[in-house]
Amino acid sequence: MYIVPTPIGNLEDITHRSIHVLKQVDYIIAESIKHTSILLKHFSIVNKLLPLNIINEKQKTKKYIHMLNQGNNLAIVSKAGTPIINDPGYLLVKNAYKNNIRVVPLPGACAAITALSASGLQANQFCYEGFLPKKKILCEKKIYSLFREKRTIITYESSKRLLNTIKIIKKVMGKERKITIAKEVTKRWENIQSGTIEQIFNIIKHDETWRKGEITIVIDGAKREKKNILSLKTLKIFNLLKKETTLTTAIKITAKICGFSKNILYNTIVTKNIS
Ligand code: SAM
Repeated sequence: MYIVPTPIGNLEDITHRSIHVLKQVDYIIAESIKHTSILLKHFSIVNKLLPLNIINEKQKTKKYIHMLNQGNNLAIVSKAGTPIINDPGYLLVKNAYKNNIRVVPLPGACAAITALSASGLQANQFCYEGFLPKKKILCEKKIYSLFREKRTIITYESSKRLLNTIKIIKKVMGKERKITIAKEVTKRWENIQSGTIEQIFNIIKHDETWRKGEITIVIDGAKREKKNILSLKTLKIFNLLKKETTLTTAIKITAKICGFSKNILYNTIVTKNIS
């Protein structure tokens, strides 16, 4: 069973090997018959298409494993990019191993890796988070959980939610952290912007073109904390204020006096259980 990546926008990004495999296999399993038909037509590939999507994945996997067991060669493709990476196909690969079927992955386009390579952020160690939760509260929780992540963080996001998501990232991670947003990579309206969270927030707030298109976000990992963030002086101010007011206000005023981001101070105080 072949895993075949397809372009994420620019059709020239298909590989010779992908075309060859898509021509040679007995069947192509496609996330979207419509999308893949257009792709096949463009490259003059004539082959039979079978559907596989999140809804029919369980039922179809059984059928395709049976076909593989009978000696058919199958290739799996998604709408765009590398199958399985936030696309259907995981069950098929898992079951292929259970049935001693050889899995052959082809390298190729993937939005996450393409955006990371152009992010200007450290790329030797990174974590891929897929899509962030749609609900605001869950999204905020997720970003809090990533606050101390030292590796570069990659997430996919819908352009409709981008502004709100960046707002949440700014609230949780602070204005100064570096971030890169990559829109419509490899396509005509490709736009990649890199800067502090505050700078990126201001760019997309004032530019309507960011409300459309496919987006990948790359966030810089957490840097080593400044050792003196909880110096004796900071703690003394915080403790005095805490006696007089709420935790949030005490943090806000301490951060202002000491020149820290209130979110960084909040996270340090809460995770170290100082409050
Ligand atoms: N499996 C695919 C891959 O390997 O790239 C990802 C599939 S996921 C369902 C689709 C998401 O990837 C989009 O919503 C967007 O966040 C991101 N994406 C896809 N194409 C992109 C592009 N050309 N530029 C930026 N992000 C893209």
